[in-house]
Amino acid sequence: MAQRVAVSDGTNKKVSRVRVVVRLRPYMGTQDEKDEGSCVRGLDSKNLEIINWRNATETVKYSFDVFHGEQTTQQEVFLSVKPILPHILTGQNASVFAYGPTGAGKTHTMMGTLNQPGVIPRAVREVFKMVNAKNDDEGWDYSISMSYLEIYNEKVLDLLSPGSQDLPIREDKDKNILIPGLTHTTITSISDFHKHFVPASLNRTTASTKINQRSSRSHALLLLKVLRTQRAPPHRQQAGKLYLIDLAGSEDNRRTGNQGIRLKESGAINLSLFTLSKVVDSLNSGTAVRVPYRDSKLTRLLQDSLGGSAHSVMITNIAPEYKFYFDTFGALNFASKSKLIVNKPFICETVPALPVKRARDGQEAGRSATEPQ
Ligand code: ADP
Ligand code: MG
Repeated sequence: MAQRVAVSDGTNKKVSRVRVVVRLRPYMGTQDEKDEGSCVRGLDSKNLEIINWRNATETVKYSFDVFHGEQTTQQEVFLSVKPILPHILTGQNASVFAYGPTGAGKTHTMMGTLNQPGVIPRAVREVFKMVNAKNDDEGWDYSISMSYLEIYNEKVLDLLSPGSQDLPIREDKDKNILIPGLTHTTITSISDFHKHFVPASLNRTTASTKINQRSSRSHALLLLKVLRTQRAPPHRQQAGKLYLIDLAGSEDNRRTGNQGIRLKESGAINLSLFTLSKVVDSLNSGTAVRVPYRDSKLTRLLQDSLGGSAHSVMITNIAPEYKFYFDTFGALNFASKSKLIVNKPFICETVPALPVKRARDGQEAGRSATEPQ
């Protein structure tokens, strides 16, 4: 799973592919909504298909590094991220980001709940576990710190220091990206982590209900840094960074006609997600002469942690309901440039409640075309 495919960026520098994982959340249609079933379904552990809106007798099939179906547990999703974690103990960088429309499960995937913790708490726990398991004889001391920031309207804000102003992004002579003024809090255990993370997340959520669903319009980035120092001379130091990111909703705000949203705000979201898509595209096609990191704050910040020698996983979250159809299509096209139109009728079979209801109604529609008749 951890396998990284290195490709040349045309300048003889190795750049690594972004692994693309898609997660389909369970169907959550309510009683009073039109019960249309799912417009997307999984085929196997890499492939899914979605009905083709241009021609309902066709489906469009997509392939990914991993496809996680509706029944996937939080632990299974975490397992697609886990292989990149050891790298940050040896001075390498990594990033994990959840992409997709609002309501498709990004926050559930990254944060989760108390009973079903997501990628962030699991990754932090794993990093502590790995550091604590390090043999003293290896001769390194480890220290772990966290930062938590938000990019909103192309402004970089420190979530551990409420009321902070827009922070600058700098690059040092070794091409490391730095954010002068950003809070770095040393943490010594997972409970220490929660002590800082939970109130900062709550702050963000509270603000979001006041400021026009801000959480769906900003990118939240948790940064975990592992610094290791050699005990004996020459006391070498290595710093590894891990970004865990809950991106802004990928829905097209112009199309959904969001009333309160200011043009500038929607432009800023579109700019950073659009640039992210260009960056991921350049990295994954391996043909780019120039990866356009500098075109947005998000990608500029991630410049040393996405592509190059860094290890990255993008989790594209999608929802099965028809009302998400165009957003799902957009998210899948963002995540995969390879698709195949398959000429066969799409008949919904993935909603457990539906076949029962339809059978009762004396209809056949709940049955799959490929199912033995
Ligand atoms: P987003 O952050 O992309 O806007 P959320 O994570 O808030 O979406 O998810 C929207 C709703 O769907 C929430 O009520 C969440 O609890 C639920 N949900 C999302 N993914 C899952 C899942 N895999 N299993 C169960 N419920 C989910
Ligand atoms: Mg969310």
